[in-house]
Amino acid sequence: MKRIAIYGKGGIGKSTIVSNMAAAYSSHHRVLVIGCDPKADTTRTLYGERLPAVLDVLRENRKPDASEVIHEGFGGVRCVESGGPEPGVGCAGRGVIVAMNLLEKLGVFEEEIDVIIYDVLGDVVCGGFAVPLREEFADEVYIVTSGEYMSLYAANNIARGIRKLRGKLGGVICNCRGIRNEVDIVSEFASRIGSRVIGVVPRSSLVQESEIEAKTVIESFPESEQAEVYRKLADEVYLNTEFVVPEPMDPEEFEEFFRKFRGDD
Ligand code: ATP
Ligand code: MG
Repeated sequence: MKRIAIYGKGGIGKSTIVSNMAAAYSSHHRVLVIGCDPKADTTRTLYGERLPAVLDVLRENRKPDASEVIHEGFGGVRCVESGGPEPGVGCAGRGVIVAMNLLEKLGVFEEEIDVIIYDVLGDVVCGGFAVPLREEFADEVYIVTSGEYMSLYAANNIARGIRKLRGKLGGVICNCRGIRNEVDIVSEFASRIGSRVIGVVPRSSLVQESEIEAKTVIESFPESEQAEVYRKLADEVYLNTEFVVPEPMDPEEFEEFFRKFRGDD
Protein backbone atom coordinates (compact mmCIF):
# COMPACT_ATOMS: atom_id res chain seq x y z
CA MET A 1 0.00 0.00 0.00
CA LYS A 2 1.24 3.45 -0.90
CA ARG A 3 0.66 6.13 1.73
CA ILE A 4 1.28 9.62 0.39
CA ALA A 5 1.06 12.99 2.14
CA ILE A 6 0.79 16.24 0.19
CA TYR A 7 2.14 19.40 1.82
CA GLY A 8 2.33 23.04 0.74
CA LYS A 9 1.47 26.60 1.67
CA GLY A 10 -2.20 27.46 2.25
CA GLY A 11 -4.05 28.02 -1.00
CA ILE A 12 -1.26 26.70 -3.22
CA GLY A 13 -3.35 23.93 -4.80
CA LYS A 14 -2.92 20.88 -2.54
CA SER A 15 -6.57 19.80 -2.48
CA THR A 16 -6.90 20.21 -6.25
CA ILE A 17 -3.85 18.02 -6.79
CA VAL A 18 -4.92 15.42 -4.20
CA SER A 19 -8.43 15.04 -5.64
CA ASN A 20 -7.23 14.88 -9.25
CA MET A 21 -4.50 12.37 -8.39
CA ALA A 22 -7.07 10.26 -6.56
CA ALA A 23 -9.39 10.45 -9.57
CA ALA A 24 -6.51 9.39 -11.80
CA TYR A 25 -5.65 6.41 -9.59
CA SER A 26 -9.28 5.32 -9.37
CA SER A 27 -9.21 3.74 -12.84
CA HIS A 28 -6.68 1.11 -11.68
CA HIS A 29 -6.44 1.25 -7.91
CA ARG A 30 -8.47 1.31 -4.74
CA VAL A 31 -7.95 4.74 -3.28
CA LEU A 32 -8.65 6.36 0.09
CA VAL A 33 -8.37 10.15 0.46
CA ILE A 34 -8.10 11.66 3.91
CA GLY A 35 -8.60 15.40 4.18
CA CYS A 36 -6.70 16.54 7.26
CA ASP A 37 -7.80 20.16 7.08
CA PRO A 38 -10.50 21.47 9.44
CA LYS A 39 -12.01 23.21 6.37
CA ALA A 40 -12.98 19.68 5.22
CA ASP A 41 -12.92 20.62 1.53
CA THR A 42 -10.46 18.10 0.06
CA THR A 43 -13.02 15.61 -1.13
CA ARG A 44 -15.73 18.01 -2.37
CA THR A 45 -14.70 17.59 -6.02
CA LEU A 46 -14.60 13.80 -5.65
CA TYR A 47 -17.90 13.39 -3.82
CA GLY A 48 -19.78 16.24 -5.53
CA GLU A 49 -20.58 18.09 -2.32
CA ARG A 50 -19.02 18.71 1.06
CA LEU A 51 -18.83 15.70 3.33
CA PRO A 52 -19.63 15.70 7.02
CA ALA A 53 -16.31 15.57 8.87
CA VAL A 54 -15.47 12.74 11.26
CA LEU A 55 -15.25 15.04 14.29
CA ASP A 56 -18.69 16.49 13.52
CA VAL A 57 -20.20 13.03 13.05
CA LEU A 58 -18.70 11.99 16.39
CA ARG A 59 -20.25 14.99 18.12
CA GLU A 60 -23.69 13.64 17.13
CA ASN A 61 -23.02 9.93 17.51
CA ARG A 62 -20.16 8.46 19.51
CA LYS A 63 -20.35 5.12 17.71
CA PRO A 64 -20.92 5.83 14.03
CA ASP A 65 -20.72 3.06 11.46
CA ALA A 66 -18.39 3.21 8.48
CA SER A 67 -21.04 4.53 6.11
CA GLU A 68 -21.30 7.73 8.18
CA VAL A 69 -17.62 8.63 7.89
CA ILE A 70 -16.46 7.09 4.61
CA HIS A 71 -18.21 8.14 1.43
CA GLU A 72 -17.63 6.81 -2.04
CA GLY A 73 -16.93 9.45 -4.63
CA PHE A 74 -15.87 9.54 -8.27
CA GLY A 75 -14.45 6.23 -9.52
CA GLY A 76 -15.19 4.58 -6.16
CA VAL A 77 -12.60 6.71 -4.34
CA ARG A 78 -13.25 6.44 -0.61
CA CYS A 79 -13.40 9.90 0.92
CA VAL A 80 -12.88 10.92 4.54
CA GLU A 81 -12.64 14.38 6.08
CA SER A 82 -11.15 14.41 9.57
CA GLY A 83 -12.53 17.86 10.35
CA GLY A 84 -11.32 19.90 13.25
CA PRO A 85 -12.08 21.64 16.47
CA GLU A 86 -14.19 24.80 16.60
CA PRO A 87 -12.11 27.63 15.09
CA GLY A 88 -9.66 28.98 17.62
CA VAL A 89 -10.01 26.05 20.01
CA GLY A 90 -7.91 22.89 20.15
CA CYS A 91 -5.61 21.35 17.60
CA ALA A 92 -6.24 20.19 14.04
CA GLY A 93 -3.79 17.33 14.54
CA ARG A 94 -6.10 15.89 17.16
CA GLY A 95 -8.85 15.64 14.52
CA VAL A 96 -6.60 13.55 12.29
CA ILE A 97 -5.67 11.20 15.15
CA VAL A 98 -9.31 10.76 16.19
CA ALA A 99 -10.34 10.11 12.58
CA MET A 100 -7.53 7.58 12.02
CA ASN A 101 -8.33 5.73 15.26
CA LEU A 102 -11.96 5.51 14.25
CA LEU A 103 -11.11 4.23 10.74
CA GLU A 104 -8.85 1.64 12.31
CA LYS A 105 -11.61 0.53 14.69
CA LEU A 106 -14.04 0.28 11.79
CA GLY A 107 -11.61 -2.05 10.02
CA VAL A 108 -11.06 0.27 7.05
CA PHE A 109 -7.36 -0.58 6.81
CA GLU A 110 -8.11 -4.30 6.78
CA GLU A 111 -9.86 -3.86 3.43
CA GLU A 112 -7.64 -3.81 0.42
CA ILE A 113 -6.51 -0.30 -0.35
CA ASP A 114 -3.72 0.43 -2.84
CA VAL A 115 -3.19 4.13 -2.27
CA ILE A 116 -3.95 6.46 0.63
CA ILE A 117 -3.48 10.19 0.04
CA TYR A 118 -3.44 12.66 2.93
CA ASP A 119 -4.17 16.30 2.16
CA VAL A 120 -2.26 17.98 4.98
CA LEU A 121 -2.68 21.37 6.59
CA GLY A 122 0.04 23.65 5.29
CA ASP A 123 1.00 25.49 8.43
CA VAL A 124 4.23 24.20 9.98
CA VAL A 125 3.43 25.64 13.42
CA CYS A 126 0.16 23.70 13.61
CA GLY A 127 -0.04 20.20 15.14
CA GLY A 128 -1.97 19.13 12.04
CA PHE A 129 1.26 19.44 10.11
CA ALA A 130 3.19 16.89 12.11
CA VAL A 131 0.58 14.23 12.74
CA PRO A 132 0.59 12.27 9.44
CA LEU A 133 4.37 11.82 9.68
CA ARG A 134 4.82 11.69 13.44
CA GLU A 135 2.12 9.07 13.85
CA GLU A 136 3.52 7.22 10.80
CA PHE A 137 0.24 7.36 8.88
CA ALA A 138 2.14 8.39 5.74
CA ASP A 139 5.36 6.99 4.27
CA GLU A 140 6.18 9.51 1.59
CA VAL A 141 5.76 13.22 1.22
CA TYR A 142 5.45 15.65 -1.69
CA ILE A 143 5.60 19.44 -1.44
CA VAL A 144 3.48 21.61 -3.73
CA THR A 145 4.81 25.07 -4.55
CA SER A 146 4.65 27.74 -7.21
CA GLY A 147 7.60 29.97 -8.12
CA GLU A 148 6.34 32.75 -5.87
CA TYR A 149 8.42 33.93 -2.94
CA MET A 150 5.96 33.13 -0.15
CA SER A 151 5.13 29.73 -1.55
CA LEU A 152 8.81 28.78 -1.80
CA TYR A 153 9.49 30.29 1.62
CA ALA A 154 6.73 28.10 3.08
CA ALA A 155 8.03 25.09 1.12
CA ASN A 156 11.48 25.60 2.66
CA ASN A 157 9.94 25.70 6.15
CA ILE A 158 7.95 22.60 5.34
CA ALA A 159 11.18 20.89 4.25
CA ARG A 160 12.60 21.79 7.69
CA GLY A 161 9.54 20.28 9.38
CA ILE A 162 9.79 17.13 7.27
CA ARG A 163 13.48 16.81 8.15
CA LYS A 164 12.73 17.07 11.87
CA LEU A 165 10.16 14.31 11.53
CA ARG A 166 12.61 12.24 9.43
CA GLY A 167 10.02 12.20 6.63
CA LYS A 168 10.90 10.89 3.16
CA LEU A 169 10.45 13.54 0.50
CA GLY A 170 9.62 12.09 -2.90
CA GLY A 171 9.70 15.35 -4.82
CA VAL A 172 8.40 18.85 -5.38
CA ILE A 173 5.28 19.50 -7.44
CA CYS A 174 5.29 22.81 -9.31
CA ASN A 175 1.74 24.18 -9.44
CA CYS A 176 2.25 27.13 -11.78
CA ARG A 177 0.98 30.62 -11.14
CA GLY A 178 2.28 31.74 -14.50
CA ILE A 179 5.29 33.77 -13.40
CA ARG A 180 8.42 34.02 -15.53
CA ASN A 181 11.06 31.25 -15.20
CA GLU A 182 8.70 29.47 -12.86
CA VAL A 183 9.78 25.89 -13.58
CA ASP A 184 13.47 26.92 -13.42
CA ILE A 185 12.95 28.59 -10.06
CA VAL A 186 11.12 25.60 -8.61
CA SER A 187 13.68 23.16 -10.08
CA GLU A 188 16.52 25.12 -8.50
CA PHE A 189 14.63 25.21 -5.21
CA ALA A 190 14.06 21.45 -5.32
CA SER A 191 17.70 20.77 -6.03
CA ARG A 192 18.84 23.12 -3.22
CA ILE A 193 16.81 21.11 -0.70
CA GLY A 194 18.23 17.86 -2.11
CA SER A 195 15.18 16.85 -4.13
CA ARG A 196 13.77 17.28 -7.63
CA VAL A 197 10.64 18.39 -9.44
CA ILE A 198 8.42 15.35 -9.97
CA GLY A 199 5.62 17.12 -11.82
CA VAL A 200 4.65 20.46 -13.33
CA VAL A 201 0.98 21.46 -13.32
CA PRO A 202 0.18 24.43 -15.56
CA ARG A 203 -2.36 27.03 -14.55
CA SER A 204 -5.66 26.23 -16.24
CA SER A 205 -9.15 27.69 -16.17
CA LEU A 206 -10.48 24.11 -16.36
CA VAL A 207 -9.61 23.83 -12.66
CA GLN A 208 -12.11 26.58 -11.80
CA GLU A 209 -14.68 25.36 -14.32
CA SER A 210 -14.73 21.88 -12.83
CA GLU A 211 -14.53 23.22 -9.26
CA ILE A 212 -17.79 25.15 -9.80
CA GLU A 213 -19.47 21.84 -10.62
CA ALA A 214 -17.82 20.23 -7.56
CA LYS A 215 -15.91 17.90 -9.86
CA THR A 216 -12.27 17.14 -10.60
CA VAL A 217 -10.76 18.10 -13.96
CA ILE A 218 -10.40 14.38 -14.62
CA GLU A 219 -14.15 13.87 -14.26
CA SER A 220 -15.30 17.03 -16.08
CA PHE A 221 -12.70 17.21 -18.84
CA PRO A 222 -11.18 13.73 -19.13
CA GLU A 223 -9.82 14.38 -22.62
CA SER A 224 -8.14 17.69 -21.72
CA GLU A 225 -4.40 18.29 -21.52
CA GLN A 226 -4.86 19.32 -17.89
CA ALA A 227 -6.43 15.94 -17.05
CA GLU A 228 -3.45 14.27 -18.75
CA VAL A 229 -1.09 16.35 -16.59
CA TYR A 230 -2.75 15.07 -13.40
CA ARG A 231 -2.71 11.48 -14.68
CA LYS A 232 1.00 11.77 -15.52
CA LEU A 233 1.75 13.26 -12.11
CA ALA A 234 -0.18 10.43 -10.45
CA ASP A 235 1.89 7.88 -12.40
CA GLU A 236 5.19 9.57 -11.57
CA VAL A 237 4.32 9.56 -7.89
CA TYR A 238 3.09 5.96 -8.01
CA LEU A 239 6.30 4.70 -9.61
CA ASN A 240 8.66 6.93 -7.66
CA THR A 241 11.49 5.22 -5.85
CA GLU A 242 13.70 8.25 -5.09
CA PHE A 243 13.30 9.63 -1.61
CA VAL A 244 15.41 11.97 0.50
CA VAL A 245 15.34 13.53 3.92
CA PRO A 246 15.27 17.15 2.71
CA GLU A 247 17.95 19.68 3.56
CA PRO A 248 16.25 23.05 3.99
CA MET A 249 18.10 26.26 3.12
CA ASP A 250 19.04 28.58 5.93
CA PRO A 251 17.41 32.05 5.68
CA GLU A 252 20.45 33.68 4.03
CA GLU A 253 20.81 30.97 1.43
CA PHE A 254 17.10 31.19 0.72
CA GLU A 255 17.30 34.95 0.10
CA GLU A 256 20.35 34.53 -2.12
CA PHE A 257 18.60 31.77 -4.09
CA PHE A 258 15.50 33.87 -4.64
CA ARG A 259 17.43 37.07 -5.51
CA LYS A 260 19.27 35.19 -8.23
CA PHE A 261 16.01 34.71 -10.10
CA ARG A 262 14.47 38.08 -9.27
CA GLY A 263 17.41 39.66 -11.10
CA ASP A 264 16.29 37.92 -14.29
CA ASP A 265 12.82 39.53 -14.28
P1 ATP B 1 -5.83 25.34 1.43
O1 ATP B 1 -4.48 25.41 2.03
O2 ATP B 1 -6.65 26.58 1.70
O3 ATP B 1 -6.55 24.08 1.71
P2 ATP B 1 -5.04 24.28 -1.11
O4 ATP B 1 -3.56 24.29 -1.07
O5 ATP B 1 -5.74 23.01 -0.86
O6 ATP B 1 -5.63 25.41 -0.16
P3 ATP B 1 -6.67 24.47 -3.47
O7 ATP B 1 -7.94 24.63 -2.69
O8 ATP B 1 -6.42 23.19 -4.16
O9 ATP B 1 -5.44 24.85 -2.55
O10 ATP B 1 -6.52 25.60 -4.57
C1 ATP B 1 -6.72 26.95 -4.27
C2 ATP B 1 -7.38 27.63 -5.46
O11 ATP B 1 -6.47 27.65 -6.55
C3 ATP B 1 -8.62 26.87 -5.89
O12 ATP B 1 -9.69 27.75 -5.96
C4 ATP B 1 -8.27 26.30 -7.25
O13 ATP B 1 -9.32 26.49 -8.15
C5 ATP B 1 -7.07 27.13 -7.70
N1 ATP B 1 -6.09 26.31 -8.43
C6 ATP B 1 -5.33 25.31 -7.95
N2 ATP B 1 -4.53 24.79 -8.90
C7 ATP B 1 -4.78 25.47 -10.04
C8 ATP B 1 -4.30 25.42 -11.40
N3 ATP B 1 -3.35 24.55 -11.76
N4 ATP B 1 -4.82 26.27 -12.31
C9 ATP B 1 -5.76 27.15 -11.94
N5 ATP B 1 -6.26 27.27 -10.70
C10 ATP B 1 -5.79 26.45 -9.74
MG1 MG C 1 -6.96 22.42 0.73
